[in-house]
Amino acid sequence: MKKHNFSAGPCILPQEVLQKASEAVLNFNDDNLSLIEISHRSKSFVEVMEKARSLALELLGLENKGYKAVFLQGGASLEFLMVAYNLLHKKAAYLNTGTWANNAIKEAKAFGEVLEVGSSKDNHFNYIPKGYTIPEDADYFHCTSNNTIVGTQMKAFPETKVSIVCDMSSDIFSRQLDFEKFDLIYAGAQKNMGPAGTTLVIIKEEILGKVEREIPTMLDYQVHIAKESMANTPSVFAVYVSMLTMQWLKDLGGIKFIEEVNNKKAALLYAEIDRNSLFTGIVAKEDRSTMNATFTLTDVSLKETFDTMWSAAGINGLNGHRSVGGYRASMYNALPLYSVQVLVDIMQELEAKK
Ligand SMILES: *Cc1c(COP(=O)(O)O)cnc(C)c1O
Repeated sequence: MKKHNFSAGPCILPQEVLQKASEAVLNFNDDNLSLIEISHRSKSFVEVMEKARSLALELLGLENKGYKAVFLQGGASLEFLMVAYNLLHKKAAYLNTGTWANNAIKEAKAFGEVLEVGSSKDNHFNYIPKGYTIPEDADYFHCTSNNTIVGTQMKAFPETKVSIVCDMSSDIFSRQLDFEKFDLIYAGAQKNMGPAGTTLVIIKEEILGKVEREIPTMLDYQVHIAKESMANTPSVFAVYVSMLTMQWLKDLGGIKFIEEVNNKKAALLYAEIDRNSLFTGIVAKEDRSTMNATFTLTDVSLKETFDTMWSAAGINGLNGHRSVGGYRASMYNALPLYSVQVLVDIMQELEAKK
């Protein structure tokens, strides 16, 4: 039986998507060829790419609004660099909410002044900074919607005339937002969309072409838009599986539907963390992520017992990030509510044992 997969990334994908993907590896479109042995310029694959790009915009409600979707390589980590390469003239504002935000800040510093407008570093990033000011002359404001590692999530985004750039790697397609607030959104596929190897970037086209520096071909968003994500050989498998996952989500009822499920899963687990005296949540309650719930045991001597119990129940991937410790339950779109119930039952069993 399939395990209850709470892995933080790469992470759980819908079973029916995995089934279809495995069939396509053997025989794609009944062409008697594998998806991964045909030309990326073949009609069959070009259709996949087009569908993936249009589904991304459709799910986010950004069709016909001046946005383009591209599938790139190099992970979300390369976007830390590309964003600054393509958009930073003089000064950019960054919100430091943890490791990923910090990596983005580090890359941007090579291109201009980087203003850290807010940071939660003082408390191990266990909350989202609020009440910060974004200077009106900043080229853009960069934020990370969900801190995958510590388990905080931005519930609100600033009202500003400055372009908002957001790393949504770990909560893309998980909740409804006014996506038009953002001029650039990027997400590595492997958290909520597909296998590692591709990154979805959604760009409002009018923000491009304004920096004076020469941009190397493969780092230039305008090139990738013009070449429709085919500037070179794309990650065909990763794009295909991402397309299947987006189609799965659309068929279920889109983000509106999955957000309700995600809220139910998070509510169930956080309620148990708060009720059960053996567990404590790690982050500020108002900033708790619906995707990654982090918690610790109040009595560390129970660690071995608890670990043996959840592992025996078929739970995978519950250990916290090495920099945080404790536990992290990642509840991405494809994780069923039932898996969360299994975890909650184990937490209650541990309590009963004590
Ligand atoms: C995992 C993650 C990244 C890094 O993604 P890669 O594709 O491995 O480069 C960046 N940002 C966030 C929020 C993440 O969760």
